[in-house]
Amino acid sequence: MRVTESFIGYKTIHFDRTISVEPLELPPHTYESDALWLGFPKGVPGLPPADLLGGLHGAEHALIAIAPLLVLCDREDIAGVSSPLHEQTTLPTIILFDEIEGGAGLAEVLYTSFERLAKEALSLVSDCPCTDGCPSCIYSPRCGSHNQPLSKDGTIKVLRLLTEGTNTGLKIK
Ligand SMILES: [Zn+2]
Ligand SMILES: [Zn+2]
Repeated sequence: MRVTESFIGYKTIHFDRTISVEPLELPPHTYESDALWLGFPKGVPGLPPADLLGGLHGAEHALIAIAPLLVLCDREDIAGVSSPLHEQTTLPTIILFDEIEGGAGLAEVLYTSFERLAKEALSLVSDCPCTDGCPSCIYSPRCGSHNQPLSKDGTIKVLRLLTEGTNTGLKIK
């Protein structure tokens, strides 16, 4: 895939407190990389449209958080994008990609180990004692959209569907 990253600003954070938010004007950075995407041709059963993006987005974060268990990488090496209707796949979609110019083969390993990745991500979220999602499960310190929107309940539905391997277009043995 071709990735275009735009750095629109930065925040100064002291512990959990935001001290300042400064805009940045930098040219976008474009590079080619490897990606894995998950399309949901029939949507996510039981997930209302208003929670679809929150569920996909939470699942994207959880899958990325678990990735270092399966591939030798830092969670900073993998990035993601979620869309309730992606313009290229024309489906509700989660994309995971190597955030490294030229790719580093990480997306490929995630694809071949997907069954385990989805299972571990589901345990991470469903075993977390929080009610609406927290930094231990679906919140990501690196989220480009300030962890909005996120739905813990929706995330569990998306991840459960992925572990079942039904209607995802991905064959899981
Ligand atoms: Zn949590
Ligand atoms: Zn995010």
